[in-house]
Amino acid sequence: MSYAKSLRCSKCGREYPLEPINLCDFCFSPLEVTYDYRSMSEVVSREAISSGPVTMWRYLNLLPINDKVVDLGTGFTPLIKAENLGKEIGLDNLYIKNDCLNPTYSFKDRVVSVAISKAMEFGFDTVACASTGNLSASVAAHAAKTGLKAYVFVPANLEQGKMVSTAIYNPTLIAVDGTYDDVSRLCTQMVGRFKWGFININLRPYYAEGSKTLGYEVAEQLGWRAPDCAVAPAASGLLFTRIWKGLNELAMLGLIGPVNTHMYLTQAAGCSPIVNAFNAGSLHVHPVKPNTIARSIAIGNPSDGQYALRIARESGGGACAAFDEEIIEAMKLLSQTEGIFAETAGGVVIAGLKRLVDSGAIKRDELTVAFITGSGLKTQEAVAEVVSPITIQPTLSSFIENCADSVEGY
Ligand SMILES: *Cc1c(COP(=O)(O)O)cnc(C)c1O
Ligand SMILES: [Zn+2]
Repeated sequence: MSYAKSLRCSKCGREYPLEPINLCDFCFSPLEVTYDYRSMSEVVSREAISSGPVTMWRYLNLLPINDKVVDLGTGFTPLIKAENLGKEIGLDNLYIKNDCLNPTYSFKDRVVSVAISKAMEFGFDTVACASTGNLSASVAAHAAKTGLKAYVFVPANLEQGKMVSTAIYNPTLIAVDGTYDDVSRLCTQMVGRFKWGFININLRPYYAEGSKTLGYEVAEQLGWRAPDCAVAPAASGLLFTRIWKGLNELAMLGLIGPVNTHMYLTQAAGCSPIVNAFNAGSLHVHPVKPNTIARSIAIGNPSDGQYALRIARESGGGACAAFDEEIIEAMKLLSQTEGIFAETAGGVVIAGLKRLVDSGAIKRDELTVAFITGSGLKTQEAVAEVVSPITIQPTLSSFIENCADSVEGY
């Protein structure tokens, strides 16, 4: 049984029943799931969680669903001590949360696991989403597993790896001639017309809660404590807000001490509306037109931008943007120091982290977690230039002729 109590408007506080709705009727602000934490705290303990499945479902009691309906084995991904990368950029206590290692290779499996389970509770037979490429793959995979029909809408200029890793699950794949913001607007218009569960629109309050598990896992994997600093990517800003919510819920439930985490948000310079607002000291996030290789986080008009912005400020954190060249360099750096091939969004995080350390915002001894949210196999175009093999004939003499210079002791 779920401890979710209601949906509450994040601006005016009006409450709504737990239905497939995402905006307040009065002020059009996003709705957020509330819980009965008192009852929840009676069943939730470190021991109960630790003895649960080695997936995100160890936190089922903290999520807004009655039961897991679809389980592809998402979550409880490795938290790696990144000593080599730390040495390279000047941190003694750096960890990488490697969410490439989810069933469809991105953190989106967390949000989709919750939203699809909720869609089935609500009785939808069709799900849909507006996606920058990772959500589409995850929705298609979960729909395949559950037998739901899926309509996934993506910008037509998506990377080939994102297209293939979505299409393979055989959803109805619709390529829209426009940006993600156009796709999102189109899907919002469709919500009233079709009786579908739109994973990141009318099911958005539930979808959002899946991201809390990233916060839970990191705290548990650090030995039940919050990090000093967290560095995460922001597209709509929702993930960023839910890492924070996850950490604070654990503190509220008495599972960890007070949360003093500085929350740092990163975006690509070619699409950085939230970072712009942070730097301008503004409360409002002004939309931009995206132009960056980090397409999975290229949302020009981020729906949860102002909430992410507030958390970056109030946690004593910050916001930082990285240029495309820095993103590519950071993808190589992460691969070549830690053996983790992240997608462009991961490059944004590592490039941002480097800037934050260089500027003195993050200090050498602070326990810092960088969230790597998707796999580089889906955005190979960005770093295709690394491929320059030495081509030889299948003979020893050809190897010696072409490679002897680099063979030590020859
Ligand atoms: C979707 C996505 C994000 C961030 O999503 P939000 O809209 O900010 O919640 C980050 N990284 C990757 C790889 C994504 O696909
Ligand atoms: Zn409201």
